[in-house]
Amino acid sequence: MSLTEFEIIKQYFTRQPRYASVVESVGNDCATVSLEPNKQLTMSMDTLVAGRHFPFDATPEQIATRALCTSLSDLAAMGATPLWFTLGLTLPNADEDWLRSFSHGLFYVADQFNIDLIGGDTTQGPLTITVQVHGEVEMGQGLKRSAAAVGDAIFVTGTLGDGAAALDLLVNKSSQREYDNINHSVLKYLTDRFYCPMPQIEAGQLIAPFASSAIDISDGLLADASHIAESSNVQLAIDIDCLPIAPVLIQSPNLFSQECLSSWALSGGDDYQLLFTVGQEKLKELKRLIDENLVQACCIGQVVEGSGVSLFLDGVPYNTDSSANDYKGYQHFAS
Ligand code: ADP
Ligand code: MG
Repeated sequence: MSLTEFEIIKQYFTRQPRYASVVESVGNDCATVSLEPNKQLTMSMDTLVAGRHFPFDATPEQIATRALCTSLSDLAAMGATPLWFTLGLTLPNADEDWLRSFSHGLFYVADQFNIDLIGGDTTQGPLTITVQVHGEVEMGQGLKRSAAAVGDAIFVTGTLGDGAAALDLLVNKSSQREYDNINHSVLKYLTDRFYCPMPQIEAGQLIAPFASSAIDISDGLLADASHIAESSNVQLAIDIDCLPIAPVLIQSPNLFSQECLSSWALSGGDDYQLLFTVGQEKLKELKRLIDENLVQACCIGQVVEGSGVSLFLDGVPYNTDSSANDYKGYQHFAS
């Protein structure tokens, strides 16, 4: 027998909150929360539509982990500490196996990042997941896109191009290739990166006190770098030869050409790493975090006068087919 809306909520989305700040949670008309003095609330909402943001054959657990991880990435970009989230769930039907697996994936990530589910909405329709995350930052200390200054060094966390490589392998070519022929460790690496892209929460919190600007890379490095450039009224000069690419992908030339990897690192989306800038006088602080293995990041360029993004290869200006400044990344409703 199919579950009703309220049985679904009670069974799969009601958990004892971990934070005393949660005054009212799931089961009330509204959630009520208290914010500590001297903190500010940061919020972000993301919607995932089946067939657009994840393939139709994704497992419910994978859909849940991707939905929450990608939303948390926005909190990371602000240097925020995750606290609470709400969940808008539109389901074609109330399949208990689906709900069990989805709920398992959701709370797996929620537990890892100490975030409480405090409410939501459950409706019937084409599979769509909306997550709104809430976090806190010290008063006035949140990272933003608008304060990069000429002379700052540009850094990126982790590796780039994994999201696009994953899409290529898992979505575009999955029907044409035998999974058996694909190196198992590459497949596992990319599946994890796509469905569980670890939000850089800790890195965001650690760089917040001294980074001049930050953004999470969801639409591709070029597109997101151009957002910082525009907000800060500067140009971001990026060295293509410095872009960090996962060794496991470089070591799979039968699957991915060097050209593909470079182009994905530059303009593929879905990496959920942090792009940030640091003033020269603060570089020592970042170096200490990197040396102590608390932040994994590398320098990919410098902030200069001008606008947009410029690219360099071995110190020489480099032009992509579509000019870097024109590159807009993935955009819904773009004609
Ligand atoms: P109302 O009719 O008062 O708007 P709902 O019937 O939509 O409330 O939801 C009942 C309670 O369950 C509310 O507290 C709501 O926040 C919560 N809720 C609904 N759907 C979800 C969900 N998918 N995850 C978590 N909480 C949910
Ligand atoms: Mg109500």
